[in-house]
Amino acid sequence: MGSFEYYKPESIAEAMALMEESGGKGVYIAGGTDVMVLIRQRKLSPGCLISLRNIGDLAYLDTSSGLAIGSGVTHNAIAKNDIIQTKYTALADATSKVGSLQIRNIATMGGNICNAAPSADTACPLLVLDARVVMAGKNGERSVPIDEFFLGPNRVALRPGEIVKGFEMPAFNERTGSAYIKHTRRQAMDLPMLGVAARVTIRIDGDQIGCRDALCGIENISDILKRFEDEKLVCEDVRIAMGVVAPRPMRAKKAEGALKGRVISEVLLQEIGEIAASECQPRDSIRGEAWYRRDMVKVLTKRAILRVVDRIIRPDDTIWPERLW
Ligand SMILES: Cc1cc2nc3c(=O)[nH]c(=O)nc-3n(C[C@H](O)[C@H](O)[C@H](O)COP(=O)(O)OP(=O)(O)OC[C@H]3O[C@@H](n4cnc5c(N)ncnc54)[C@H](O)[C@@H]3O)c2cc1C
Repeated sequence: MGSFEYYKPESIAEAMALMEESGGKGVYIAGGTDVMVLIRQRKLSPGCLISLRNIGDLAYLDTSSGLAIGSGVTHNAIAKNDIIQTKYTALADATSKVGSLQIRNIATMGGNICNAAPSADTACPLLVLDARVVMAGKNGERSVPIDEFFLGPNRVALRPGEIVKGFEMPAFNERTGSAYIKHTRRQAMDLPMLGVAARVTIRIDGDQIGCRDALCGIENISDILKRFEDEKLVCEDVRIAMGVVAPRPMRAKKAEGALKGRVISEVLLQEIGEIAASECQPRDSIRGEAWYRRDMVKVLTKRAILRVVDRIIRPDDTIWPERLW
């Protein structure tokens, strides 16, 4: 590993000035869990490293109106936050499963999103939670929807010298929930072979207790979905996002359109899974083959939507019938 200068600025302005001084050859480093791997693999050779860890302005987590998270907040701090666990659950699902505890204690969500790997675990939750990426640059701050931030593998919409300041998400009502399912080859630390996130807002035109009973009784999925149909459980709004099925994390917009405003049923969820699978372009890789990823999109899309509905209807229950899905 070569040697290079390491700077620890304490403000965004100072960090950007150091980047300018380096002639754009410097590299920002947050937790370093992607950067250091690339340096060791000799895929990255920075002029200097500019650490973002001492910048207090990147370390905020504000839940007073919607959710605002600084780019320097670690996965573990996000996963442990009560409000995120209850109201932005997909994000808690994802951040609690990134790497190991040691990685989660140092790695940041900003780094995960700026590195822009198709497998980045926090990308799909941020897509379904309608996050905006706030960036600081020479000419002040600007923000873009996260969907426009990802340009391709390891390519994002940052201009030279810009720093991601944080992420902003709106508040959602109590009939809204979210989930992220990370599908891996093994239960221990692994990057996802596939990731699917969903955010759903429901309306029950029939009997709420009937729907709740269906989830508590758990005989089989067909029974649950039949009861949802009988009680007219309507999907009022929905977002579905998929990771590792295209060069960049993506929304399944056609599937969303086909589900919005309709009563949830077995036939419909089957159809939604098929549509989502038709929207993605997975490829073969060391972690899984394209046909398997595509097939699993169908399964995980249905599973993620049902998990969200369960979370909305039974917010205080911890029993989840995962073994049945
Ligand atoms: C053992 C191991 C296991 C892992 N497991 C997972 C996993 O399960 N899921 C997963 O998604 N990832 C995983 N990763 C990858 C990595 O941990 C995550 O992507 C992590 O979130 C990166 O954050 P960081 O703070 O360490 O980023 P860094 O390595 O510091 O930076 C990553 C990139 O982002 C840029 N950057 C960082 N912050 C900013 C900012 N505020 N503004 C502009 N640019 C910025 C850096 O210049 C760099 O290009 C794993 C890595 C390791 C080593």
